[in-house]
Amino acid sequence: AKEAGRNRLYFYDPAMQEAISSRAQMESELRVAIEQEQLVLYYQPQVNAVGELTGAEALVRWEHPQRGLVGPVEFISVAEASGLILPLGHWVLEAACRQLSDWAEREQTRDLTLSVNISTHQFKQADFVDQLLALVAQYAINPQRLKLELTESLLIDDIDFAIERMRFLKQQGIGFALDDFGTGYSSLAYIKQLPLDQLKIDRCFIDGLPSDANDAAITRIIISLASELKLWVVAEGVETQAQRDFLLDVNCTGFQGYWFGRPVSAEDFLLNALEQQEG
Ligand code: C2E
Ligand code: CA
Ligand code: CA
Ligand code: CA
Repeated sequence: AKEAGRNRLYFYDPAMQEAISSRAQMESELRVAIEQEQLVLYYQPQVNAVGELTGAEALVRWEHPQRGLVGPVEFISVAEASGLILPLGHWVLEAACRQLSDWAEREQTRDLTLSVNISTHQFKQADFVDQLLALVAQYAINPQRLKLELTESLLIDDIDFAIERMRFLKQQGIGFALDDFGTGYSSLAYIKQLPLDQLKIDRCFIDGLPSDANDAAITRIIISLASELKLWVVAEGVETQAQRDFLLDVNCTGFQGYWFGRPVSAEDFLLNALEQQEG
């Protein structure tokens, strides 16, 4: 035993041990969560420049039996590392399609779009397109109401593949937003090749508005880039009236953030939507 162990490094770090077992534990709990429908979508409103509700971003939550409502920052990375992101992502897409079919039944919610976050593994999955189109058909939704939010790192990974897959889905009517814009490896050369509908300005640039001169400059440039490329541009993480006013002033077209509404359950989202339209 002494021989075998000589060249090995043995150490015991209780904090590390705990992190590893809690990761493993989370993985097995997450598996159960997906099977037993413990996941739920929350909906954060998106509005246009005159304050009308145009749609929502679907954000996944975990209704954990002991821990209560758990946010995606705590479990998406575990899901990605373990491959559980595939069943999880499929669950999210199905729930989103079901929601769009509910919205289609009411005049006040019929035209809303629903944006869904798609992770790299999910987008690259061989049968992603088939699965998505099967859901669109099953729930009989208008594909134009669905927006897929992709990140720059997802696209840059295999740009030719991404362009081809996006173009095909685009022909089926499905729209695309480039999420967290400005934080990744934005190459202007590929942005013009992508069949995008929307850029989302990352919250880190909105945070410093209106006083931070760099954030203000970057925000202005992203908005004029979007305008030149004829893309809708959504500012994320708008928390204050001063940020909203600055963004309106520089002709931002779409707005999302706590100032307009936090992510809420489907029931609350519907109540707010109906209330807003009654004036
Ligand atoms: P994201 O796509 O950038 O989503 C925006 C995040 O910012 C959400 O956090 C939202 O609640 C938060 N947020 C919105 N407005 C404000 C604001 O005014 N101030 C601040 N401080 N935060 C705001 P959330 O729901 O915790 O989601 C975090 C991330 O988890 C998302 O970032 C997205 O990358 C990922 N995610 C969420 N749902 C899904 C999903 O269904 N699938 C995948 N693959 N990823 C998801
Ligand atoms: Ca997003
Ligand atoms: Ca984002
Ligand atoms: Ca973000």
